[in-house]
Amino acid sequence: MRITRTANAGILLQMDNISILLDGVCGQIPPYCSTPNNLRNELTVNLPDIVAFTHYHLDHYDEQYAKAYEKLTSRNVVQPNNCDSLKVGNVFVQPFKSRHIGKNDVSHISFIIKGSYCVWFLGDASPLSIKSVVGLPTPDVLVVPYAYANTDSSFKLTRSFGAKHIVLLHMPLRENDAYGIYDDVKKTVQGDSGVYIPEMGESLDLN
Ligand SMILES: [Zn+2]
Repeated sequence: MRITRTANAGILLQMDNISILLDGVCGQIPPYCSTPNNLRNELTVNLPDIVAFTHYHLDHYDEQYAKAYEKLTSRNVVQPNNCDSLKVGNVFVQPFKSRHIGKNDVSHISFIIKGSYCVWFLGDASPLSIKSVVGLPTPDVLVVPYAYANTDSSFKLTRSFGAKHIVLLHMPLRENDAYGIYDDVKKTVQGDSGVYIPEMGESLDLN
């Protein structure tokens, strides 16, 4: 399984020969980064098998890309207003309603992706709201924003989900990190070899 960071809080997930773009194209909302043009072009030329967005905040969602994808492929983008589960090849994508962290001002869904591995892609879902969902399968990989690992208590909760690997997204630009998020996260996760903070465009091969 390969995970490539393509956006502020988004990835291209490749598993069992299926490619799934999750919150994977976005514009820039400082202090967070946007999808660079080369990656955007690549994702337009090599269209993923599935495109999904957790919510419509612009650091997670790009309307232009979503519309173009639907037009070019005649396939629906999975998003809060169109969130049926689907199966492509051996990969099953199950959206479920979840609450946005902090201000609850937007519809939000998270995803369980199951193939050879089980991935939870949580978007900006509140950790406590996820903890209260019963019956979720144990993840191999958890893909979450930094708020899941910037304090000891949030990281303890994150670790309780039982994932082998934790991929942290939504990190601010290093040169625009006024709240010291990198330092907080580094302190919290130090010594835990299962945590990854991919740079933009970086790929992780996980199993
Ligand atoms: Zn958001």
